[in-house]
Amino acid sequence: MPLKYAFLKVCAIALLAVVASGLLIYQENQNHRHAIQNYQAEQELYRVNRYVEKLVQTRQQNVRTITLTLDIPGQMQKGGENLAPELNHLLHNVKESLSVEVVYLLDHNGVVLFSSNYLDADSFIGHNFESRYYFRQAKLGLPAQQIGLGLVTGEFGAYFAQPIIKEAEQGDASARFMGALVIKDSFDLPLARNSNESVGELATANLASLTLLLNTSGEVASSNDKSWIGKKLAQDTINLEADTLHIDGTEYYATSTALKDFPGWHIIRLQPASSWVEDAFAPLITHAGIVYLAMLAAVFVAMLRLYKRVATSIRKREISHRRLRLSHQRYRRLSYRDPLTGLSNRRAYENDLRRELQRADRYHHPLSVALLDIDFFKKINDQHGHDVGDRTLKYFADLMKNNIRETDMAYRFGGEEFILLLPETPLAEAELLLGRIQNALAGSNIEVPFTFSCGITDHRNADTPDTPDTIFERADTLLYHVKENGRNAIKAQGSH
Ligand code: GH3
Ligand code: MG
Ligand code: MG
Repeated sequence: MPLKYAFLKVCAIALLAVVASGLLIYQENQNHRHAIQNYQAEQELYRVNRYVEKLVQTRQQNVRTITLTLDIPGQMQKGGENLAPELNHLLHNVKESLSVEVVYLLDHNGVVLFSSNYLDADSFIGHNFESRYYFRQAKLGLPAQQIGLGLVTGEFGAYFAQPIIKEAEQGDASARFMGALVIKDSFDLPLARNSNESVGELATANLASLTLLLNTSGEVASSNDKSWIGKKLAQDTINLEADTLHIDGTEYYATSTALKDFPGWHIIRLQPASSWVEDAFAPLITHAGIVYLAMLAAVFVAMLRLYKRVATSIRKREISHRRLRLSHQRYRRLSYRDPLTGLSNRRAYENDLRRELQRADRYHHPLSVALLDIDFFKKINDQHGHDVGDRTLKYFADLMKNNIRETDMAYRFGGEEFILLLPETPLAEAELLLGRIQNALAGSNIEVPFTFSCGITDHRNADTPDTPDTIFERADTLLYHVKENGRNAIKAQGSH
């Protein structure tokens, strides 16, 4: 993939990671908050329910005991209006001793026959509780309890019922259920505050957050902060979903939970808005946090890979540049050198001659050029073989190199032809030099002796109308003449 796209990919992943993690964290934060609130609400509910449970156990026990001790079936059997004051009074006494709100007796149709509040203008006597859950349960022969608004008082209460059963008369199964004895316990949580068994404490103790128990009229019935008890909260704070709330100048996050067993009652939890900041990092250890961190890691890895790719490609490019440069240099070196003799070649000669010509013109220095050709070289090859021919060429090249100055240059012009380029050298000196080479060759001890022919010319100054070609032509003509005249000689002639 081209680097540009790899980079765009990394950017896209990063952007996606940021957006996705933002959404996830927001969502998770909400979930987290709700989870905590719900958990606390559940806990509180559990406490309240435990209280009710305890109440149910003791009251149910009481109602059963009353039934047994009063022998109500027997009493009811007697029947008659004249029993009323006696039974009503009895129930009143029972109510006092149990310190409950009302104790009353239903007949088998659910109508109240006798009641502890018989003295009240609006007593329970005569009311029909047939539709009530506890009565229906009692009719099935089961003790029952119910929490709800009273039919008569319109007040919140807990009802405990105990069926009254008469031994079945023969062949008359329906006659067995005679009615029910019911205790209505005032289930007034604010009142319970005054008793030893404080509902408020039960409901809200040991909770970290400020918790208010609101009754149906929005009054704080209980709280883990006693200073709140009795305060009345605005109606719109009840039933609120998780939201912010301003009370006495402080901002709170508030959640309201309706208590399902206590219609109209609410538990409200308040947390100072500032305290939620501590929870800001909580989502990081949740699923969204892990996804977020994983995405960050992915971005990091992608960046690292991209970086490595860039670094590698830069390094590769550098290496290939260096190789190219080296091979170029090597190529140049090779392209100017004759591999057999190690001398510079014809191309080098042409470059050098051009340069030396310019220099000679500029400084008015002499420049000589000698063209050398081995005599009858073809015969050497033919009679002794190509290898001997090669060695002969190499020998001659070395001989020339050893006899010229550092500033002189020797070239293999091609085949068995050589050129000496002699800067700062007048024609006469060049002639002497070539003579020295000729003598050296003649005196050398080689396997196949040979001679050479040579034409020398010079370039004297800028006034001479010379080009590389005219110089070479002059030397070549001289060489030709030497060959024509028997070879193994040196012929020198100036430019004019
Ligand atoms: P002349 O005296 O007239 O110069 O005669 P010649 O034989 O020296 O010249 P000619 O040009 O006829 O032959 C040159 C020979 O050199 C022909 C070619 O095969 C041989 N030759 C050219 N380059 C090489 C080489 O690199 N190695 C060998 N062994 N022979 C070469
Ligand atoms: Mg030749
Ligand atoms: Mg030759």
